[in-house]
Parts: sequence; structure tokens; C-alpha cells
Amino acid sequence: MNPSADVIVIGGGHNGLVAACYLAKAGRKVLVLEASETFGGMVSTNPVIGAAPNHRINEGGMDNTLLRETNIVHDLSLESFGYGEIEIDPAYAFLQPDGSSLCIWKDPQKTADEIRRFSQKDARAYIDFANDIDLMMNLSVPYMKSHPIRVNIWEMFLGILKLLRHPRRAIGLSRFVSASHAEYIEESFEHPIVRGPLAAIVPFLPIQQEMTAWMLIQFGFIHRKGVSRIRTGSGGLTDALGKCLLASGGSIRTGAKVEQILVENQRAAGVKLVGGEELRAPVTVAACNIYNTLQQLLPAGALTDRELAQARRIPNAASNASSYKLDIALDARASLAKHQAWRKNDIDLRKCGLCWATYEQHIKAWDACARGEIPDPLPVFVLIPSANDPSQAPEGQDTIWCWSGIATATPTQPWEEIKASVTKGVILDIKQYIDNVETAEIGRRVMSPDDLATRFHVPKGNVYHVDTGMSRFGPFRPAPAFANYTTSVKGLFLSGGSMHPSAGIAGIPGRIAAQTVLRLS
Ligand SMILES: Cc1cc2nc3c(=O)[nH]c(=O)nc-3n(C[C@H](O)[C@H](O)[C@H](O)COP(=O)(O)OP(=O)(O)OC[C@H]3O[C@@H](n4cnc5c(N)ncnc54)[C@H](O)[C@@H]3O)c2cc1C
Repeated sequence: MNPSADVIVIGGGHNGLVAACYLAKAGRKVLVLEASETFGGMVSTNPVIGAAPNHRINEGGMDNTLLRETNIVHDLSLESFGYGEIEIDPAYAFLQPDGSSLCIWKDPQKTADEIRRFSQKDARAYIDFANDIDLMMNLSVPYMKSHPIRVNIWEMFLGILKLLRHPRRAIGLSRFVSASHAEYIEESFEHPIVRGPLAAIVPFLPIQQEMTAWMLIQFGFIHRKGVSRIRTGSGGLTDALGKCLLASGGSIRTGAKVEQILVENQRAAGVKLVGGEELRAPVTVAACNIYNTLQQLLPAGALTDRELAQARRIPNAASNASSYKLDIALDARASLAKHQAWRKNDIDLRKCGLCWATYEQHIKAWDACARGEIPDPLPVFVLIPSANDPSQAPEGQDTIWCWSGIATATPTQPWEEIKASVTKGVILDIKQYIDNVETAEIGRRVMSPDDLATRFHVPKGNVYHVDTGMSRFGPFRPAPAFANYTTSVKGLFLSGGSMHPSAGIAGIPGRIAAQTVLRLS
């Protein structure tokens, strides 16, 4: 049978597209298969609110940090396909009910100057923290960008040299590896307005769990290269990747859900789509979720016993926390009157990532998830994407993007029964800060973990695909048997947020998958 392509990529999220672009540019004939009617996966911008067809909604990720550390945009000439970024500085503002706020700027000194209004001690501690994190970045970033096993020795060596220049501080970095996120915050900072954003900006793992303080490395990304959002919405990235792929001779089929990876003589031979159509190729890159790949798409007996045992134990929302998403289309600009007045217009708060759940509320929220209860309040993170990029809403109007990463994955009462009341609580919470959130609403879309699971074909709606703990980093992500981006099935390669270094807007798993294909096939 004639092959349909040299390489089939399962999943048209940004990682699948990055892999496809690198492979197509290397001369391979690539076909991307995407289950949904639109491609882009969790990096998509679409008019999904029926009552507001001119408000473009960012369905998944928004804040862009890790991609900025890579050469992917340059390698794929994405700017020539319409890609652009908007710098956000200050990237975040932590709001307090009395109207006061703390902004997190790219410049740690500017952040410390704001902290000084509230605590001299914390301002000094913040500079130490930022310096320590920056030191840790010297080693972590080169490793995150490299293959987890075939490490870029030279870059790592340079990172170690930079660490050795500050031996005393380097020893102190062990706290980022050993301490819990909560422990690190408590031992370093005293004021609630400082503890709050340090908890809220990185709600990826249970705050009291051992070995979670490393998540604060996100502040290293903020302070080193800053945070950006993608022009025309996050979908601007996947649109540019799609155009790059087409220009390099590749193609994308949407509404093409893979049901099975065909395996013949222990080799991947192509895929079977839902509906029965078979497409053949000597190489398949699975850039969809790893659980689906290993436990549903591969036929029984394809993996070794060792692989299967590890596949079954890959953690997915082990803390019982997943994501909740609320998007609202407004017929006016979002108003933060009280908080804007406190800042005396030194910055437009609409342009920052907004959070307000306190450090203590984060502790309670993670505990509630573990008990199967919905946290009250649900800690949320709110952006107003149209404030930075007015092209995403009609003139003078806004979109509100609201995400919680501490929403109970499997609550004692099914989400379908509680979604409306949870959303009512979230909107009341937002109203304390964005006063016209109810009165200016045109329409909304609410996504529980179940809805996210359906929309993105990802079990439990887990936006990280695989839990992000230290035990699933580097050669352990998603499990040692798969860390090489391969399985024992020849011609099958793995990619997507399930792989090293992590999920998030990064593209690194896509690039490493393509490099692995080019090296081994
Ligand atoms: C609400 C939300 C907020 C987020 N916020 C941020 C943020 O601010 N910053 C950040 O960096 N990250 C954020 N993330 C996470 C980030 O967006 C994702 O981790 C990342 O985009 C995953 O990319 P991916 O390409 O690996 O996978 P995905 O985007 O999940 O793409 C996988 C694709 O595979 C398709 N697929 C699955 N199964 C099949 C099949 N059988 N056949 C064919 N196709 C299939 C899916 O439909 C999907 O399109 C957020 C995510 C969400 C949902």
C-alpha cells in the first residue's frame, strides 16, 4: 500500500505542529491529524461564545515564558508567518480587597521597590530570592532545552561554571529542591501581599507537598526574559506554525481522530481513524496525550511488560486538582476602579495577570481538592487579553480569561451538577476586583475539568498532560521507559506536553521529537 506520508503526527497542538514543521523543513512529507474541528489544541483562539462572535477567546494557555528561551520562533521563521509577541510588564498584579496591590515587574529591583511599601524585610529577601533563582536558571534552562538523556554537555558545563562563581549561594539553592512551596514561602517572606503572588503565580502542585519549591523558577523566567502574550491571541502561534507547515509541503487534517496506531512486526505502520480509514506511514509521532497513546491507541501486546507497568503508573491529577476555565465577553472595558485609583494610574491594571487568592487560601484550596470538595473561594487567575491586544474584541470592549489550576478533578458531586453554583461563586469573587463583570457581560463559556477533557482529548482535563512533580522531570518524564521519546515499537516517537521538559507553551517537546526522528529514522 502507498504510504500517505513519511511521517504522521497525531495531534495538532503546538508541540505536534512544531515537530511537524521541523520535519517538513528537513524534507519529510508530514501529515498532522487533529481530532478537533480546529487545530491548535490548548494554544487556540476562537470565537467560542455564541452571543459574542466578535470576541476572540483564548481557549487555553496565554502567558508565554518558556518558548522565549528557545530558538523555535527563529528556526521556523515564524515571524514571516505572522507571529508576534506583546511584552507584559508588569506581568502580574496581586490585588487586595482594600484596593492596594503589588506588581511583579520584569526588573526584580522594581518589584522589590513596590514590596518596600509593605515590608522592608521582604524587599531585601526578594532581591536575594531573585538572585538565587537566576543562579538556578543557569543550570535548569539549558537542561530543559536539551534532550533529557542526550544532554548538551557544553551548555551544562557553562551553567555549572556560573554556579561555582557563587559557591555559598549555590549551596542555598538546595532549598528549591528539598522544601515544599509553602515551606519556602514561609521561611523567606512575612507579608501577605508578598506571600500571595508567590503562591498564586505557580499553582501547579500541592503547595505543602515536599520538593515543590522548585516551581518558583517561574519567577526566574519572569525576571530574566519577561512574560509576553502572543499577538492576535495565543492561536497566533499555532496559526503561524500551520502556515509554516503548509509552506514546507506538510498538511493538516482536522476532524481526524486517531483510534489506533497500526503495529506490524513490532513496527508502527500508520494509523486507523475513527470511522475506519487507514493512513500508512513508516514513522508516527504521537503528540497527543501520553495516556491515550500508550493505553488506548496502541494495540494490546505492543508494549513490553515493563513499559506497560510504567505506563499505568504515570500520575495524572494525583492530587485530585485539575483546571476550571471561565471566559466572559464584555460589552465595555473591564473596570478595576478601586484598585486603579490606589495605583494613581501608574500602570493600567487591565494589562496585568491578576490574582488575589491569599497564601492561606491556597493551602485550604489544595486540602479541599484532596477531600473531593470544591475550594471556596476557588483561587483564580484572571487576564484581560483584549487590554493588551484590542484586536481580540470590538472597540471599547473586553474579554475576560479566568483559570483555576486548583479545581477538584473528581468532586464528591459531579461537575455537571455543581458547575453553575461554582461559577456563581467565581463571578462574585471576580466582582470584588472587576466591578462591572456582571453588568457588562454579553455571554460566557464555562469549562469544568470534564469539559476540558472533552474539548482537548486529555484525561481529567489535565492541562499539564502528566503531573509536573520532580519525580516526573528529565529522564523520569513521563516514565523512565519513555524518556528517550521512543517506545519499543520501532517507528513510533513520542511528543507533546507529557514529555520532558514539561507542558506549557514551550514547543520544546515538539523540537526534541523531530530531532529524535531525524536521528533514528
Ligand atoms: C485553560 C488553560 C490555561 C493554560 N494556561 C497556560 C499559560 O498561561 N501558560 C502556559 O505556558 N501554558 C498554559 N496552559 C498549558 C498549555 O497550554 C499546554 O500545556 C500546552 O499547550 C500543551 O500543548 P501540546 O501541544 O503538548 O498539547 P495539546 O495542546 O493538548 O494538543 C494535543 C492535541 O492532540 C489532539 N488529540 C488528542 N488525541 C487525539 C487523537 N486520538 N487523534 C487526533 N488528535 C488527537 C488534541 O485534540 C489536541 O489538539 C494552559 C492550558 C489550559 C487548557
